[in-house]
Amino acid sequence: MRDGQSHHPEVAMKVTPSSVLVDEQAKALAFHADVLGFVMKLDLPAGEYPAEHATPSLTTRRWRRSTCASVAVLDVDHHHGNGTQDIFWERADVLVVSLHGTPETEYPYLLGYADERGAGAGEGFTHDFPLPRGTTWAQYSAAFDSALDAVARIVPDALVVSLGVDTYVGDPISAFALEREHFPLMGRSLAQLRLPTVFVLEGGYAVEDLGPNASGVLGGFDAGH
Ligand SMILES: [Zn+2]
Repeated sequence: MRDGQSHHPEVAMKVTPSSVLVDEQAKALAFHADVLGFVMKLDLPAGEYPAEHATPSLTTRRWRRSTCASVAVLDVDHHHGNGTQDIFWERADVLVVSLHGTPETEYPYLLGYADERGAGAGEGFTHDFPLPRGTTWAQYSAAFDSALDAVARIVPDALVVSLGVDTYVGDPISAFALEREHFPLMGRSLAQLRLPTVFVLEGGYAVEDLGPNASGVLGGFDAGH
């Protein structure tokens, strides 16, 4: 999801108090997790729900306005989080970190280079990790560890994960080569940050694999605590 610039159908995760999983795809993902006393709920499609429940940037802003002095957004969708980056470009209270296909060859092409670092008060609070076509877990995990280090360094009060699983090798529109076994490893590493965390489900177009891969991340996160 790209904050009003939806380039393809996406899946959104909504956080509501004491929600239960109700729809079929949410059941397929079969995940419950307590985060800040909430139960995550997967809702499809995103367009049926108020936008404030469905985007990383609005989730982040809601947290900033309530209990959190600083929030980190970590975007692992294959496509660069250009909208989120733009929104928080000049802010020091929101760290934006994105791993994505290099804009040299991948949508949305214009943004997401490693030298994009934010501006003004926000200088140094944007970190982009562009990766080439065919990126494997060995390459990805090295960048992912650097991304986690960037998050840990600022000691945020909370973490919003833009969880795209279109990094999967079988994804029909993306170009990375992560295997199913790697998604739980991602979740386990995220858990090591020990932060209140919300996952906003983003891309993933290998439809049969979306559920197992997304729940792999969430299961790894759950097991990592
Ligand atoms: Zn995507």
